[in-house]
Amino acid sequence: MTPEKLEVTLLGTGTSTGVPVPGCSCRVCTSADSRDNRTRCSLLVSYAGKNILVDTATDLRQQMLREKVTHIDAVLFTHTHADHIHGIDDLRPFNIAGREAIPVFAGAAAAKSMKRNFSYIFGNGERSGYCPRLTLTEVDGPFELFGLSVTPVPLIHGNGASLGFRFGPVAYLTDCSAIPEASMPLLKDLKLLILDALRFRPHVSHFNIAQAIEQAEKVGAEQTLLTHLSHDVEHEKHGKGLPGGVEFAFDSQKICFAL
Ligand SMILES: [Zn+2]
Ligand SMILES: [Zn+2]
Ligand SMILES: [Zn+2]
Repeated sequence: MTPEKLEVTLLGTGTSTGVPVPGCSCRVCTSADSRDNRTRCSLLVSYAGKNILVDTATDLRQQMLREKVTHIDAVLFTHTHADHIHGIDDLRPFNIAGREAIPVFAGAAAAKSMKRNFSYIFGNGERSGYCPRLTLTEVDGPFELFGLSVTPVPLIHGNGASLGFRFGPVAYLTDCSAIPEASMPLLKDLKLLILDALRFRPHVSHFNIAQAIEQAEKVGAEQTLLTHLSHDVEHEKHGKGLPGGVEFAFDSQKICFAL
């Protein structure tokens, strides 16, 4: 049997404002390096001809056009901060293309807030024809999607919580300020860790770069990509200061694995 291919695409690698930040004329916001141009954080996982989207970032439409995505088969939500969910209506074209409702998955807390904040999509009331058709499933442990095992990884995100997701040899941990000890066994033997690292200065709800490097060493993945980056990070210049095996992620970056 030929091995199945798992491909991950970094759709967006920027913090909640995106980079450039509107109104800012700093070195990074005016950089000619396309790797300093960051849309809001999201990941596309392609496996067995299916596309699994992680979060519906504010820039979803732009990301789908840029990567020429023709179908979305499932969506996983890490948490419900605006930068990770406010692109949700841009799933509509994929309903038209796919005809079926798209299955979406979230932890219990995120599912509750989605039902409240997006009642026109997830509520029981009358639905307008102009909203995405999605079926919401709460997850609290590993599950299978299209033959690929998906493991939610509970994370601490400031005063709140978020979920990371593991897909075979890849883990995507955006928006976190700590990895609980209980989650560490879920991160063994990774080929690729994609990890939150907002900026150099500390932040209450995100790892800064020094903390992310420390966590990367603890997890011990073969390769670590830092994401959710602010305009404090200049890809080329600051990338040279990272230890071996750790790099800054950039929009459109693709990594492929044979499973
Ligand atoms: Zn700037
Ligand atoms: Zn967040
Ligand atoms: Zn975020």
